[in-house]
Order: sequence, then structure tokens, then C-alpha cells
Amino acid sequence: LSAEYLARQDRWESNARTYPRHLPIALAEGYGSFVRDVDGNVFIDFLTGAGVLSLGHNHPALVRAVTEQLGHLTHGLDFPTPAKEAFLQAQLSMLPPGMRDRTKVHFCGPTGANAVEAAIKLCKVATGRGDVVSFQGGFHGSTHAAMALSGLLGPKQAVRNIMPGVHFFPFCSEGCDSDCASYLERSLRDSNGGVPLPAAVLLELVQGEGGVVPATVDFARRVREVTRSLGIPLVVDEVQTGCGRTGTWFAFEQYGIEPDVVVASKALSGIGTPVAVILYDAALDVWDPGTHIGTFRGNQLAFAAGVEAVRIVREEDILGNVRRRGEQIGERLAELAGEPRVREVRGRGLMWGVELADPATGRPDSALAAAVQTEALRHGLILELGGRDDCVVRLLPPLNVTAEVVDTACTILVAALAAATA
Ligand code: PMP
Repeated sequence: LSAEYLARQDRWESNARTYPRHLPIALAEGYGSFVRDVDGNVFIDFLTGAGVLSLGHNHPALVRAVTEQLGHLTHGLDFPTPAKEAFLQAQLSMLPPGMRDRTKVHFCGPTGANAVEAAIKLCKVATGRGDVVSFQGGFHGSTHAAMALSGLLGPKQAVRNIMPGVHFFPFCSEGCDSDCASYLERSLRDSNGGVPLPAAVLLELVQGEGGVVPATVDFARRVREVTRSLGIPLVVDEVQTGCGRTGTWFAFEQYGIEPDVVVASKALSGIGTPVAVILYDAALDVWDPGTHIGTFRGNQLAFAAGVEAVRIVREEDILGNVRRRGEQIGERLAELAGEPRVREVRGRGLMWGVELADPATGRPDSALAAAVQTEALRHGLILELGGRDDCVVRLLPPLNVTAEVVDTACTILVAALAAATA
């Protein structure tokens, strides 16, 4: 049946499909860390709707919250509502205490990319400047400006006259032997550096689509220092890292920095009902709110689920589970480190990647990554790819995943790699 669904979808949707291209299944239903396809096959889902289903598929408490809200109000534009207020309070309560009082919230069209657009416009209006600094390997979405701001070239190359004034700088990760922060600082301070003082610096602290690449703590702190000293708002894109994915509510907490603007979306509701916000320093709040409006900013179902998701994360020590299960994945996948075609295994919290490279040339081995993904699917595990030429096999489990499921998934992944390299 999956094949028939895929064939029909192909006919109607042309080449718009991305995920099923590599994961040729049609989904019927999901529960917790598992998903069932239309043929009755059950898979462990370590893609979780691209990091959206933070509490797994159809978490009963979230389903209850959404169902109850359905009976009251579904769509509220930007009118105040009890659900919206509760959501707002829940989000603010998760911020470090020092940030809470000076933070404002702007509800965006319900995607990550839309919130990135809002963040950049906010900073452009507040600073009166037009350029933006972004980093190589970062991903910020597929709308026009968000794509222009993404470091991954990919389909961007075919889009002419994409937003100008974006300056890309190297992103410093573990093992990088260049002083990327000094280079950035010199370029920003030097009036001959060719980079006009930007409206914002946009940073993804753990690059997700870029292949699970965490920034070093030193790099992140120095980017914070230089942006602060030059009066450049620092925008941190937490669309993928946010809502507990890396073991703290936001990744920036682990880096010991406080951004001026935080972009959040994906897992805000925990169950896939779309919602996106920017949380920003009130000092930047000089824009006319009409600068970023949109019809779908009042999804009451997302608000109701999001309040419940925050409650569960708090009461069920989900962040503790993220750290423990993350360590477990690290320990289990350490056995891959000796494999000649595994360049690196890395992760933060429940965001992990296995980078594959040809040992002879050092080139990204995307064919092997695709083969591992296919092999894992055959044995009941859905994995994601990312990074340069899709050479990184990625794991994005639900944040409440159990030790048993992690163990089974790691066994499948290790066996899939062995089978694909045999
Ligand atoms: N920023 C980051 C870090 C992301 O990972 C993504 C989505 N993968 C986006 C922005 C864009 O989000 P959306 O697809 O909801 O527009």
C-alpha cells in the first residue's frame, strides 16, 4: 500500500516530497516513539516529524488538551484568549530568571522560517541597519530571507536575486583549528573589513540540518561579547534545539550566554499543531507590530498543547531523561568510532549525528549514509540525514524515549552500518 500512496502522491505533488524520497513509506498512525505505516509495519521513529513531536506521537495528555480546546475555540487570530495567555506564561516561565522580565513575545506565522523573518525584521527596524551576519552550515528555513540566511547552499543556488546583504562567517565547532571568533571580531571592527555593521548576527548553536554540529562554548561566548560590545543584536535560532532537545530548555543556557532574540517553533506545542514565536529583548521593541502580522498566529490548539507540554517537561523531568538517554546514545555509538568510514559521532542531548566519510579521500560519503538509512528502515528504525551532501545519519528521538527503545534503535543502527559497509 505504501508504494501506491507514494505513486499517487508523486503524480499530484510533483517533486515536492522530500522525506519520503528516502523513506518510502506512507504513515497511518503513531504512538509514542513508534509509527505504523499503511501496510502495518511498525517503526521506531527517530525523526519525530523533524524534531517536532518532542513527547512522541499522540501523547495522551496533549491529545486531551487539544481535544478539550477544540470544544472551546480553535483559531483566535491575535485576540487575547485564555489559552494564548497560558501559553505565553508557560513559555516565559521556562526562560532563565534574568531574561524573563525584559522579554517580549511576538507570535509569528506558524513556522520556524516565518519566525526567523520576524526576528530579522525586528533587528533591522531597531538598528536602522540592513545587513545580517550568518554562519556557514546553519539552516534557518525556506522562505526567501530565511533561505538567503542559510549557510547550506543546496537549492538556494537556483533562486536568483535572493536577499542581499548576508555575510557568512565560519562556524567554530569542536576540533576546528582556526580562531573563527577573532576573524569575525576583526571583520566587524575593521571599517575596511568589507562588512558593514550588521542589523543582527544569526546563530544556530547546534547546527541540526547542517549535520549536528555544536558550536564551541568559547566561540558562542565570544560572538556574544563582540555583538554586545558593538551593539549588534544576537539572534539565536532555537527552532530545532529549543524546547528541551539538547538537555536544557534552550541550548543557549548550556553556553552561558543570553541572546537578544530567540527564535522558537517546531516542538513548542509538542504534538505538531503549528506555532512559532520570537522572544526578544524589550529594548528592541521599537517596530510597528504591523511589521510582522499573519493570519495563522492564533492557533489555540497549539497553545493548549504547548501549556501541557511545558507542564509535562517540568513534572516528569523530561530534561533529565534527555540527558540520560543522550549519554546512553553516546556510549552505545562510541563503538562506531573505530569504524574506518565513521568520521565522527557527536551530539548534544537527544540530537545525535554519525558523520560518514570515505577514508581514502576524506570526502563525505552520502551514498553510505543513504544506504544506512535504507537498511535501518528495513529493520524498523526511521532516521534522518543531514550535513554536507547528506553524509550525516541523524537521530532525533522523542524526548521521553525509554532506555529500551534507545537500546534497540542503537542496535539497529550499528547493524545497519555493518550491513551497508559489508
Ligand atoms: N531553523 C532551524 C534551526 C531549523 O532546523 C528549521 C527547520 N528544520 C527551520 C529554522 C525552519 O523551520 P520551518 O521548516 O518550520 O520553517
